[in-house]
Amino acid sequence: MPLNLIMLGPPGAGKGTQAERFARGRGIPKVSTGDILRDAVHGRTEIGNRVMAIMDRGELVSDDVMIPVVRERLERPDARTGFVLDGFPRTVAQAEALDSFMDGRGALIVVDIVVPEAEILRRLGSRMICRDCGANAGSAAEPTAAVADHVTRATGSGVAAEAVAAVSALAESERCRRCGGRLVQRADDSDAVVLERLKVYHRQTEPLVQYYRHRPTFRSVNGAQSPDQVAEALARAIDGAHLNATGSDGSGRP
Ligand code: ADP
Ligand code: ZN
Repeated sequence: MPLNLIMLGPPGAGKGTQAERFARGRGIPKVSTGDILRDAVHGRTEIGNRVMAIMDRGELVSDDVMIPVVRERLERPDARTGFVLDGFPRTVAQAEALDSFMDGRGALIVVDIVVPEAEILRRLGSRMICRDCGANAGSAAEPTAAVADHVTRATGSGVAAEAVAAVSALAESERCRRCGGRLVQRADDSDAVVLERLKVYHRQTEPLVQYYRHRPTFRSVNGAQSPDQVAEALARAIDGAHLNATGSDGSGRP
């Protein structure tokens, strides 16, 4: 019985890391649409040239581009025993397309990695490095409740400029723990783009939880724990769902 897995969750939930780890452990391919698109951009393929500007803005690439890319990837022989999808589906139309590709391929297991908004903002706000020594400021202090609340409201209401200012204020109040230097945003990860991704997630991807939640193979995992703890919870949830899908719970009943 193939193990077909998708992971849902906001940017910053740790999906990429967990998907990689799980796929490696089980010997099935990890299919990351973000990686596929980044390779296309670097290779200057036709698709790469079309999607570059969209990705730079943190917006979603259109469904007509994404769906055939994923369909072709899942048709490759290495995906016959299963796959872990990371970054797809991100819209209801993509989820519907995926259901249609899954015809005759076994169940789809859906894991939602749940992380509270305040924790997401803390993680995204701490994707900072030291300008002077390059240290990763990964574990920056908690934002004050007021800042987090402001960012949440600004993001939710789509006032991007305000949200960007709030995250910058949050970041600039921190200094490097190793040398005291100023922290700067990682180049690939500017505030505006991060916030745009969060907005896009709430608007277009979060509805997928509703789309999948009533299926017997849907599971939620608490993503606000250490990576090892998340990996363990994830493995347990996935194995439970897989058993459920194969119709055997060990009791001998169908
Ligand atoms: P993150 O860096 O948050 O993990 P990804 O690497 O998954 O994000 O994706 C990077 C960018 O690639 C997205 O912001 C989006 O522009 C594009 N992208 C990736 N997957 C999809 C998808 N399924 N549908 C539309 N756009 C996508
Ligand atoms: Zn430093």
